Amino acid sequence: MRRALREARKAELQGEVPVGALVVQGEKVVGRGHNRPLGLSDPSAHAEILALRRAAKKLGNYRLKGCDLYVTIEPCAMCAGAIVQARLRRVVYGAPDPKAGACGSALAVLNHPKVNHRVEVVCGVLAEECAAILREFFRRRRIGVRYQGPGVRGQKTKGG
Ligand code: ZN
Repeated sequence: MRRALREARKAELQGEVPVGALVVQGEKVVGRGHNRPLGLSDPSAHAEILALRRAAKKLGNYRLKGCDLYVTIEPCAMCAGAIVQARLRRVVYGAPDPKAGACGSALAVLNHPKVNHRVEVVCGVLAEECAAILREFFRRRRIGVRYQGPGVRGQKTKGG
């Protein structure tokens, strides 16, 4: 999860909502991603989707059997759908997302009784750190300060 948080910080540096994800097979990271919908002009460019795509490409199979996904926030409905398609073994997430989380918070896409793939879900890993990076991002955005790296004071952006 620490490595997923590192990915989230990359998103933050690019002005994207700080979410990071990793796909792990055994002990090996086979895919990583951070949120990039703005940079890629792609509404599907969530951290989880990008990490799943890289893992599938690397393993040469869209079924990621036996792989686990680590992500800093509870996946949304789109990402939960992709997790089912990829047949992941386990999803480990940090902070719950009461507004859009599809692993039981707002919706229950994973392990829905009508979906036949079962995935183990572990939540709350480093939840406070995962939530704090998001909270801080939105707080700064509200007051119009752009993140410029750790220890650097932000400058006011035009228009706030
Ligand atoms: Zn998503």
